[in-house]
Amino acid sequence: MKIVRIQGLLLVLALLCIAPVGAADRLLSRDALAQGASLAGGWRFQPGDNLAWAAPEFDDSDWPTRTIPHRAPKGGAQEALQFSWYRLTIQLQGNIEAAGGQSPLLGVQIGKVLSAYELYIGGELVGGVGALPPDSEVNYDRMQVYAIPASALTAQGELVLAMRVWGGSALSTSLWGEGPHEGAFRIGYYRDLIAASFFNELPAVAMCILFAGFGLYHLYLFSRNRQLRTYFWYGLVALNISLYAFLSSQLRYYLDWPFALYEKVEFGTIYLLPALFIQMLLSLLAKPAGLLMRAYQGAFLVFSLLVLCVPGMSILFRTLFYWEMLCLPVLLWMPWQILRAARTGNPEARTSLIGLVIFIAACANDILIDIAGLTTPRLLPVGFVAIMLSMVISLANRFTTVLTSLESEVAQQTAELRSANRRLAVAAREDPLTGLLNRRGLLDIAAAEVQRFQRTGRTFSVMLVDLDHFKQFNDRHGHACGDFVLQEVAGLLCQRLRDMDTLARWGGEEFILIVPETSGPGAAALAENLRSCVAGHRFHYAGQEMAVTLTLGLATFVTGDNLEQCIARADAALYRGKAAGRNRVEIEAPEVVGAIA
Ligand code: GH3
Ligand code: MG
Ligand code: MG
Repeated sequence: MKIVRIQGLLLVLALLCIAPVGAADRLLSRDALAQGASLAGGWRFQPGDNLAWAAPEFDDSDWPTRTIPHRAPKGGAQEALQFSWYRLTIQLQGNIEAAGGQSPLLGVQIGKVLSAYELYIGGELVGGVGALPPDSEVNYDRMQVYAIPASALTAQGELVLAMRVWGGSALSTSLWGEGPHEGAFRIGYYRDLIAASFFNELPAVAMCILFAGFGLYHLYLFSRNRQLRTYFWYGLVALNISLYAFLSSQLRYYLDWPFALYEKVEFGTIYLLPALFIQMLLSLLAKPAGLLMRAYQGAFLVFSLLVLCVPGMSILFRTLFYWEMLCLPVLLWMPWQILRAARTGNPEARTSLIGLVIFIAACANDILIDIAGLTTPRLLPVGFVAIMLSMVISLANRFTTVLTSLESEVAQQTAELRSANRRLAVAAREDPLTGLLNRRGLLDIAAAEVQRFQRTGRTFSVMLVDLDHFKQFNDRHGHACGDFVLQEVAGLLCQRLRDMDTLARWGGEEFILIVPETSGPGAAALAENLRSCVAGHRFHYAGQEMAVTLTLGLATFVTGDNLEQCIARADAALYRGKAAGRNRVEIEAPEVVGAIA
């Protein structure tokens, strides 16, 4: 009845699950029953309504025969108020007693009947689906298994089934016709039929779970990264299909809703699907949606809301044709868009194209079933799976691409960060004015020198170098000139040092010098050399000539010493040098060295 049917897939699998029986036979053997025998052929059909037709003894031999599923032509039996009867007489062959002496309970499965029916077995009303006028209630999508009462079977093994069918409202019969129109009609052991009807629903369960899984996973990915918009739309499409798969299967009856609500929600989900599909495709192909496209999508939303909000079933029947017409453009637009993108080399569009081709083939197959009576199984669910899988592959590819570019970006930024860190580390140890090491840099080198001393016993000397009366000099010629002098002095000192010596700026106008493997007279000679070199140098700044002198305090690292003590001794020597008149080298007091040694 609807253009899309999950049941097509179910039917195929059902036929695989239960061994099908060929042409209907009114003579049924025990073996045929054990396998679940088809009740397709041999039904007698009569429009009209007469409860006497339920009786097994009623002679229906002048009624025409029909094969079920059977759909009476559109318009139905108006003169009979859309009532008609289907009767089938079955002759069971052989003994159907089970080993324990008890008759195994037989049952019949009745497929979908438009729009409500009652079932009589052996003249006894055993049940039905929906309600017949005057309390009419349609319920045309339900398959049901009924137990056959033992009393219904005559001593000769004859069984008469009679279905009293109501086609539905004038509107629905004018659109769909009426009758037992779809699904499996069979007889067998009740227990087996119930089990089979459960197993028949497994493909629908699988489809529900698969699409719900796809949907939730993609929404989760979107929640992790809000830029993955396509994942959001894909998630909604997949959840929509999952809900649709559930609502168009027999599983939905576990919810115990009113029939109209099942149909409304089922129609609501499928009516909205094209709008979501369009949105997903626009997002996948990174295309903007124009005003016209938004209006087109909005129309699907309106259709969906209409069927959900307008009370009653007739809104479903009235809108279906227009919705189908509304779908036609999207069926052309989607392949056109994907083809265009695929031709411009979009790899995601190419993958989607494969799914789309399968989807369209499945649609064409199902439409031909409806309009040209094709007898192939319905393939739309396969189409859905194909297109959603192809898109999931596209999205996974996109994810990989994004991840790869992200990784290379991270690698590049890490490299930049490392080099910035190296520069920072150097800057943290360097004095920007003179380019020498600063106090921190010097302490690292000095600590290494102390370790070397402890390992090898090779001593080193520390010299503190201070510019004399630098403040005055700064005051007279300006701060910039002071800077210039500091740089010049640093340069002059460096020129006279060995590679292994380390000169650093200790702070202000004070320098510190670490001289490895040098002590006593050697260190004193170096200090004197430095002092005289600077003292003899003439500084030229802004057309002026200046002279600068240094005072140096010298200490040698000895056993039992630590760096702070050694520097403190050099500082004390420097202080003494200042006190003694400046421009000189002062060596740590011999008694101090002696005390430590
Ligand atoms: P002394 O002979 O006793 O060492 O006298 P001094 O004037 O050299 O020593 P003092 O500690 O009184 O003054 C040091 C001056 O060095 C004060 C400060 O303004 C100056 N100074 C410190 N760092 C810098 C710098 O980076 N650039 C310049 N231009 N001056 C500096
Ligand atoms: Mg000074
Ligand atoms: Mg000073």
